[in-house]
Amino acid sequence: MRYTMPMKQNNFSIVSLGCARSLVDSEGMVNDLTSVGFDLVPEGTREAVTVLNTCSFIQAAIDETEENIELLLGRKERGEIKHLAVVGCYPSRYKREALLEKYPGVDVWLSTSESAQLKSKLSELVFQRKFVPKSVQGITGGSPIGVGDDGSTTNEADHMGSIDRAPLNKDGYRTKLTPNHFAYLKISEGCNNWCTFCTIPKIRGVHTSKPLERVIEEAKLQIALGAQELVLIAEDTTCWGEDIYGKPSLPLLLNELAKLPVKWIRNMYIYPSRVDGDFIAAIKNNDNIINYLDMPVQHVSTKMLDSMRRKHDKDFLMGILREFRQEIPDLALRTTFICGFPGETEDDVREIKEVMEQVHFDQLGCFTYSEERETKAARMADKVDIEVARQRVDELMELQYQLVGNKNVARIGQEYDVVLEGTKLARSYREAPEVDSKIVIEGAWNDAWMDTFKRVKITGASGYDLVGEII
Ligand code: SF4
Repeated sequence: MRYTMPMKQNNFSIVSLGCARSLVDSEGMVNDLTSVGFDLVPEGTREAVTVLNTCSFIQAAIDETEENIELLLGRKERGEIKHLAVVGCYPSRYKREALLEKYPGVDVWLSTSESAQLKSKLSELVFQRKFVPKSVQGITGGSPIGVGDDGSTTNEADHMGSIDRAPLNKDGYRTKLTPNHFAYLKISEGCNNWCTFCTIPKIRGVHTSKPLERVIEEAKLQIALGAQELVLIAEDTTCWGEDIYGKPSLPLLLNELAKLPVKWIRNMYIYPSRVDGDFIAAIKNNDNIINYLDMPVQHVSTKMLDSMRRKHDKDFLMGILREFRQEIPDLALRTTFICGFPGETEDDVREIKEVMEQVHFDQLGCFTYSEERETKAARMADKVDIEVARQRVDELMELQYQLVGNKNVARIGQEYDVVLEGTKLARSYREAPEVDSKIVIEGAWNDAWMDTFKRVKITGASGYDLVGEII
């Protein structure tokens, strides 16, 4: 006999696409929905509602989002789900009328700045009850022209969906979707840098910092819930505090966070031109601010940096990279490069290779340039053929494979504190969760060790892969 599970009216699932920043938003949405009576269930279990939190910063992300919308609309047509809400970056990028016309089967559309309305919209839709927010709070700064029924704000739309002051999750509470031992800490929203290739300032709005006391409160909450590693994220973490203190103030925040009883504090999304001596000192002087840095540099040639509208030239970039290596010799450095930006020549790519050979990045991502209609770069001349861009990416990744391979061989025999976070898998301070490689554990293993810290000795290396045993 075939048994079909009944559909419970208040069950919902969430599909979270995109980066860690988007995942934190999903965690806030799960918390919001469970606080008004919804129950989170795995996707595909005849849930009444599916929330799709989307990404749209480049064409590949848009394609993935649209594939997921179509897949979920298919499930809705087959009666496997009743309601579909599409939220986040994708609805922020397009005019609402166009989305309603393209996907009439989607029940709720909410941009990033409207995501606080999810619980009210779904309460009304599913429970047919008018949602009355407990309190209406404004958001400081910016120039909102509309205030939603739960305090969310919207600005005037231009050719994209909207350009908003970035929304802040007001209470910092969220339901963890990551393992217990680490938590992302989103310290600000939005970006003011306006790199010429990037759609994020338009999608996510202008930079808005979370106040210091809110970040500390959220950090304490995550530590109380079991996090031993806090991963600082934002569009540009180094910009934190600029809208509060009149100047970027990440070192102030780091020095306060370092007082908390947490083992590792990890810095991601560092913008090079805002690195200064205070920032380097905060890493050097606090044991729990680990010697790891994610600093997406995108390019190194001054000509390309200028045309990408980065706020520094090659000399400045090389100066801070040298300083990092001198001041913090065991610093693990992660970066990303874009190949094939308009006007890029073989000489520009050679400059990247030279810098890679000097700096020895520990983790590196390399991407082909993606032309996005709304950006300044899309209107630039001297486009680079996509096949040429791919070839350049391949060359850089081959070089990185050799450089990291040599570096990893030199790690054989070294010992590290690691967190065990998968069957026979571990990370040291040198590897960030989800984006970096892991250490494969050989020898003694016990599943009860999962989510705990142990000491590991590196016993083998091949290319990107490291092998170690617990000591
Ligand atoms: S720093 Fe540049 S690339 Fe990064 S989010 Fe801001 S505009 Fe985009």
